[in-house]
Amino acid sequence: MKNNENNENNQWGEPISSGTQVVGPYFGAYGGAFIPEILYSTIEELKEEFHKAKNDPAFWEEYKALMSNYSCRPTPLTYAERLTEHFKGAKIFIKREDLNHTGAHKANNVMGQGLLVKRMGKTRVIAETGAGQHGVATATMAARFGFDCTIYMGEVDVKRQRPNVFWMERLGATVVAVKEGTRILKDAINEAMRDWVSNMDSTHYVLGTACGPHPFPEMVSYFQSIIGIEARKQILQQHGALPARVYACVGGGSNAMGIFSGFFDDPVELVGVEAGGYGLSTGQHASRLSSNDSSIGVAQGYKTYFLQNHEGQMKETHSVSAGLDYVGVSPILANFKETGRVRFEAATDKEVIEALTLSIKKEGLIPALESAHAFVQAFKEAPELSADKAIIINQSGRGDKDIFTVADAYADPAWREFIIAKAEEYHE
Ligand SMILES: *Cc1c(COP(=O)(O)O)cnc(C)c1O
Repeated sequence: MKNNENNENNQWGEPISSGTQVVGPYFGAYGGAFIPEILYSTIEELKEEFHKAKNDPAFWEEYKALMSNYSCRPTPLTYAERLTEHFKGAKIFIKREDLNHTGAHKANNVMGQGLLVKRMGKTRVIAETGAGQHGVATATMAARFGFDCTIYMGEVDVKRQRPNVFWMERLGATVVAVKEGTRILKDAINEAMRDWVSNMDSTHYVLGTACGPHPFPEMVSYFQSIIGIEARKQILQQHGALPARVYACVGGGSNAMGIFSGFFDDPVELVGVEAGGYGLSTGQHASRLSSNDSSIGVAQGYKTYFLQNHEGQMKETHSVSAGLDYVGVSPILANFKETGRVRFEAATDKEVIEALTLSIKKEGLIPALESAHAFVQAFKEAPELSADKAIIINQSGRGDKDIFTVADAYADPAWREFIIAKAEEYHE
């Protein structure tokens, strides 16, 4: 590790993920590319194009220019003064990925992949989506670049996430409701893979997180590393020193990889927070790295920890946040668990609503339910640290999308009345 806080080398403008810690195909024992043979040439082409782009300084400049023009980058690092006063410990800083276009860090990944699609001369993109956020981000990118777009979504999720389906369709995407299996995210991924195999020449598969076969974990982390590059520079400017700890929620692991990658070579503790659902002891959660309920396996093109039974069938997961309930997790983070570079914790649904309530009241910030998991752990630990220390929380997205879930959690009677009245309007 290099401990020089003033080393500005490579901290602005150049992605750090070219370092040895996040170069695939394997990350320790995890990762790989377990794909049908028919996909080899397409994955090979993608790998080549990605590595060419990565070694071309003009590409990163093009990416940064696109993100500053289209998605409000660099996003601010906000000092949360009233939360800091409340907890009487470390200074709390919040990285504002919620200010991206489409409301979350997902824009960083899809826009980066959009530039690669253009370089490869392809004309169609496909994607899987669970909660619908990645589907909306991909459909937005496709509209911006003029690509055809098909989004695969489990039939159950199509029903649950109608507002996002509505916007995907308005953005010009075809949304396919997948009726296979349990009709949720993992089934949508399988179906998207099938489409890719049949349409490789024209089509790029925009994977939504730092999972799947090589080069996706490395590539998605590379685009998300823009979060960490900015955050490191901002905390040095605003606080005059590195943070003691950095917190991020972990679904597939892309926003966590993004912010963590700014600090891998620094003496900074990195904390990933998973969905604890109703509590780890209930089995109703989505904690792959912070519980003992997962095991190592190969599925969906890569090797990592999965929430699976002893026969390798995927378990059902639960979380209040639709974006953190995936059964697998980034192979890069699985390796960082093993090496001890990242610590993993879980936040329960109940703790998440409490942390959300507090950030709204104290700072006027509405983090996404996903992001609020990181807030929970940071709030637990801030009082342990002295006032001269700083911590950073990655606010991966904005919470406006969660109004249905949050209003239910608050059991808000006026909201209930509003929904019923709205439904009655349709019956008239
Ligand atoms: C999708 C999503 C996540 C989870 O995905 P990661 O790949 O783990 O970052 C977290 N926060 C928000 C706001 C999301 O939309």
